[in-house]
Amino acid sequence: MPFPNTVTSQRPLLLTLVVLLASGFLATSLLSYYASRTSIRDSIINTELPLTSDTVYSEIQKDLVRPVLISSMMSRDTFMRDWVVGGERNTGQMTRYLREVMDHYGAYTAFFISDATLTYYQAKGVLKKIRPGEVRDAWYYRVRDMSEPYEISVDPDMANQDSMTFFINYKVFDYENRFIGAAGVGLTVDAVIKLIDRYQQRYDRSVYFVDTTGRIVLTGASGGPQGAKIGQSLKDLPNLRDLQDKLPKPHSGTYEYKAEGEGHFLNVRFIPELNWYLFVDKQENSALSDVRQSLYINLVICLVVTLVVMLLLHRILRRYQQRLETQATLDSLTGLPNRRGFNLLAGNTLDSQSPLTVLLLDLDHFKHLNDTHGHLAGDTVLAGFAEDLRSCLRQSDVICRWGGEEFIILLRDSDLAGAQRVAEQIRLLAEGHDYSFSGVTLQVTVSVGLTERQGADNLQDLIARADRALYRAKLSGRNQVCIEQAVPA
Ligand code: GH3
Ligand code: MG
Ligand code: MG
Repeated sequence: MPFPNTVTSQRPLLLTLVVLLASGFLATSLLSYYASRTSIRDSIINTELPLTSDTVYSEIQKDLVRPVLISSMMSRDTFMRDWVVGGERNTGQMTRYLREVMDHYGAYTAFFISDATLTYYQAKGVLKKIRPGEVRDAWYYRVRDMSEPYEISVDPDMANQDSMTFFINYKVFDYENRFIGAAGVGLTVDAVIKLIDRYQQRYDRSVYFVDTTGRIVLTGASGGPQGAKIGQSLKDLPNLRDLQDKLPKPHSGTYEYKAEGEGHFLNVRFIPELNWYLFVDKQENSALSDVRQSLYINLVICLVVTLVVMLLLHRILRRYQQRLETQATLDSLTGLPNRRGFNLLAGNTLDSQSPLTVLLLDLDHFKHLNDTHGHLAGDTVLAGFAEDLRSCLRQSDVICRWGGEEFIILLRDSDLAGAQRVAEQIRLLAEGHDYSFSGVTLQVTVSVGLTERQGADNLQDLIARADRALYRAKLSGRNQVCIEQAVPA
């Protein structure tokens, strides 16, 4: 019976192992990925973002609240109020005062606008007159009419080549609490943007400010969320729909939302000094890229390990199976093919149309040899006789231990006369060979039945005829070669 194909027979085992290994590796990798992801998300939401917000807030207090305090001080300054109430007589006194404030506190600009004369004073002198219809002066009327004591606005500064400036506009009152003008200092927006950029780079998250109506009021150089500009409202950004649903109006707290298919963590904090909300936003992807990368590396390692294990296993199994196959087709005593091996080899030989002769050999009186000298002696003779057979045959001939002390030989491309010569050679070799076992010399003879393939002979026909020839050889006194020809049809 032929052996099943090595690869096919291994397939279920290998497949089961691949599935087991791969699912084990996959499960542990994914479990550890999700565990790390959860802990990273928790730490971002509960620790990192609030901490950043605290840090930014304290820096804001240091960097932005100071100008607010300076402006507040200016609005309460008795010199300023006295000077205005006294009729704004000496412009030089005011400009000197403003220069002092600017230089001493390191402000970018310091200003005062008198409500009585609508004069814009700054450190270098009188800048201009404020006019009610002028768009650029609209801020002044806004400040005059607002209920809060001050506002923070970002506007171009005319006193400094229109560079964008972050103004703290404080209302100034006289001693009877009548509005007499607006005073304050300015920081260049560049400086504030640099400040925000520094936060963003340092903490790898985006930082921006939003007023109470949801309008973006301050961002870093790259803009706010999705590159939004100052002045845009969060409501108007189409990608922030998800955030809008969760946070229709700015409100302190921690939020998770999606924008452009990306998860975001967001911490919102109200800054009372500015009346603004500080938004600290971190993209989930950037936070998880490290664990995701280690997941991919893990998966690649798992894949490589699985493949290597599979390859090794496949090779071991194949070698083992080949050894089994070889063992199953060989006779262990003589090293010749057994019947199973013969069936495999004979198939090919019979397929070929070239002349073919069959020799069936049987050792004579072998039972007697066994009985006299023992089974081991018989084995030695059998092994020695097999060697003799080999020495008389060609590589292309098929030889097999047919069973017990019987052998069969298929001679390819050999006619009856040639086969007879070979058979005779074997017979003579066996007859003349002294086999030695435990110091005893043993001798054996062999009877051979021979036949030639004719017409549509199959293997059974050939063996049957060779067997009859062998039987005749035995009957005729053994140690001889007999031929059985096919009966012509
Ligand atoms: P004949 O000349 O008619 O062939 O007589 P024989 O004794 O050879 O024939 P028989 O078939 O009666 O005996 C064959 C013997 O071969 C019997 C068996 O014990 C022996 N034999 C078969 N296989 C082995 C083997 O592997 N080792 C040994 N030592 N003996 C074997
Ligand atoms: Mg026999
Ligand atoms: Mg015999």
